[in-house]
Amino acid sequence: RASVGPKYLAGLNPEQRDAVETLDGPVLVLAGAGTGKTRVLTTRIAHILSQGRARPAEILSVTFTNKAAREMKHRLGQMLGHAVEGMPWLGTFHSIGGRILRTHAELAQLKSNFTVLDTDDQVRLLKQLLQADNIDDKRWPARMLAGLIDGWKNRGLTPSQVPPGEAAVFANGKGGKLYASYQERLKILNAADFGDLLLEDIRIFREHPDILRQYQQRFKYILVDEYQDTNVAQYLWLRLLSQAPSLTSPRVRGEVASQGDEGEGDSPSAALVETPPLPASGAREQAPHIKNICCVGDDDQSIYGWRGAEVDNILRFEHDFPGAKVIRLERNYRSTGHILAAASHLIAHNEGRLGKTLRTEDQDGEKVTVTGSWDSEEEARGIGEEIEQIQRKGEKLNEIAILVRASYQMREFEDRFVTLGLPYRVIGGPRFYERAEIRDALAYLRVINSPADDLAFERIVNVPKRGLGDATVQMLHDHARKRRIPLFEAARAVVDTDELKPKARGSLREVVAQFDRWRAQREVTAHTDLAQIVLDESGYTEMWQKDRSADAAGRLENLKELVRSMEEFENLQGFLEHISLVMDRDSGADEDAVSLMTLHSAKGLEFDNVFLPGWEEGLFPSQRTLDEQGRAGLEEERRLGHVGLTRARRRAMIYFATNRRIHGTWSTTIPSRFLDELPAANVEITESKGGSAWGGTGGYGASRFDDMEAFGSTYSTPGWQRAQANRNRGGGRNGGGGSGGFEEQTSSFTSSASPGPDFGS
Ligand code: ATP
Ligand code: MG
Repeated sequence: RASVGPKYLAGLNPEQRDAVETLDGPVLVLAGAGTGKTRVLTTRIAHILSQGRARPAEILSVTFTNKAAREMKHRLGQMLGHAVEGMPWLGTFHSIGGRILRTHAELAQLKSNFTVLDTDDQVRLLKQLLQADNIDDKRWPARMLAGLIDGWKNRGLTPSQVPPGEAAVFANGKGGKLYASYQERLKILNAADFGDLLLEDIRIFREHPDILRQYQQRFKYILVDEYQDTNVAQYLWLRLLSQAPSLTSPRVRGEVASQGDEGEGDSPSAALVETPPLPASGAREQAPHIKNICCVGDDDQSIYGWRGAEVDNILRFEHDFPGAKVIRLERNYRSTGHILAAASHLIAHNEGRLGKTLRTEDQDGEKVTVTGSWDSEEEARGIGEEIEQIQRKGEKLNEIAILVRASYQMREFEDRFVTLGLPYRVIGGPRFYERAEIRDALAYLRVINSPADDLAFERIVNVPKRGLGDATVQMLHDHARKRRIPLFEAARAVVDTDELKPKARGSLREVVAQFDRWRAQREVTAHTDLAQIVLDESGYTEMWQKDRSADAAGRLENLKELVRSMEEFENLQGFLEHISLVMDRDSGADEDAVSLMTLHSAKGLEFDNVFLPGWEEGLFPSQRTLDEQGRAGLEEERRLGHVGLTRARRRAMIYFATNRRIHGTWSTTIPSRFLDELPAANVEITESKGGSAWGGTGGYGASRFDDMEAFGSTYSTPGWQRAQANRNRGGGRNGGGGSGGFEEQTSSFTSSASPGPDFGS
């Protein structure tokens, strides 16, 4: 088919092309995995730029990870044939929201160099608040409160907007008050948490229509990838920015009426109730004019419900953005026939989906394989061997991914890869900068950058040990609280009194003097040099040099690497900003390496070969999700399976182990119910390459797989489980007698799995 127009449009199918060329008004591309949604978004930007519709700085485009943003920029350069000069508003919700907040920090009682707290800092701060309020941290853990506050922020709720019924669930009704004092403390510390990066923007936009208008005018085009995983706050933020600049106070879904609104108080969806606009200026009847916004997504890939994402956002797009054009893409360009069929069949078990057709014009290719192993070690060994075989065939390691349900599963693979000498990288996993020594070093730099950063100051005031123990810190806290000043300033004041013993006073005076000196040096010294000076003069480097533990050498290397990594940034501020915002990481981005990540982190990515280990009841689907969210949780787990399978271009390989060791305890497991939901015609059962333990264990060797009814069985009576349970215990899983011990073991195993950060990106 001869295509007319610019080169980057060539090869798009008619629907894709429609989505690229419909530049005016709201557009939703609602389509399944691998149909080219992200490609459409990128091409759309290229089109906008090459048509001269907007300059790079006038396009707001939101990706789910920083990595995806870099990728998009790279592709854009390829399409246009030249590198794009600056796309300052291409990034994640957090990075763009943070950028806007820094510009108007004073309107949120912050300074523009405010610190972004991570979860750890957040929890430490909340602990202090609980202590100050004499609330028992054991009964009411700070982490729980952090979760609640995050949840409220995800829904766009400020302290005064939290429905009383919800605030009541923590510490006998103190939840709301604690949220309010937490926010106050953040201001004093010159800090924001991730939720604030959007929530404060929203507040500023609402309270300062002139500022909002300025951004509305700036952003001529808005584009959003992975729209199915946006939360209410993100929706509100987008919605405000996507209105054509005018004086109208729009009716926005999610505006919460004032606190008196007790009727909705207990409803978790209170924030979604349609309410009149806040009393602001102008006419309110008129429907707001919506600008050029294009969102793409797939309801079947909504996997962040546990983090506050509302799949409702995508289902309601036409309602929220009146006049929207909805475009569907049906051709999958990524996966071969068998893989696509297996993934489609699996997701068809979910109710409450829009339903989509997905077809491929590709070959059937290889069937999806399912391999059972004796235990997780054999699983890792088997996958390791399989990878070496792929490598021997001359394929790139970059085209191989292992997608796990829970991040603790990774360690086994990491160990294996180190043994085999296979290069690998962990994506979105425990990050470099989260290591203790890196966090210490960063804390020093944070205090230099922002003297009000109490959390950072507290972290290092006695690291290395300087005789400034808990008692001293407590005294500084009292002092700081009384006079409402940062800890650092309290320290400065205290060293001139005799409240401290001479020795402690001397140490503290030295610390204050050092920081003053470093801050002065900052003006004249390169930030990388300064970092090295700080690490040396503070005694921190020496502390690890003297340390006899096995990992001290590694820590010193990490510190070196940290200083090296700063070279990429213009100054300290830019570097610290990057650290606080970076949500995903490329280790040795250029190296050919196997990728290891959670299913959650795999969103939007694709690989020729995808390994999916750990398809066992309790692990996947996760027991915790099932316990906490029931049917909805099961459906989200199934979507996760669908995401996993649809990452594969040519080969998808599922594994399950019958024994898994969690925190040192062996537990017997049963294959995931999702295996039952795969279509027999597209699946092949294979033997583990990792050893003979599985094949050789009497009762259930290869013969087990002759039981093909396993594949034909229905959802309610999972054949794999029945087969397994019958052989193991002589009774069905749901069959009462004899299965008690079995259930018990399963749940003891799963209780360690949590859908918290461990599972996420
Ligand atoms: P996901 O839902 O997983 O994020 P997606 O819909 O965003 O998937 P893309 O990642 O954009 O899909 O595209 C999947 C693959 O198909 C990519 O390798 C892309 O380059 C390719 N592709 C998309 N459209 C076409 C096309 N018209 N011709 C050839 N290849 C295409
Ligand atoms: Mg995509």
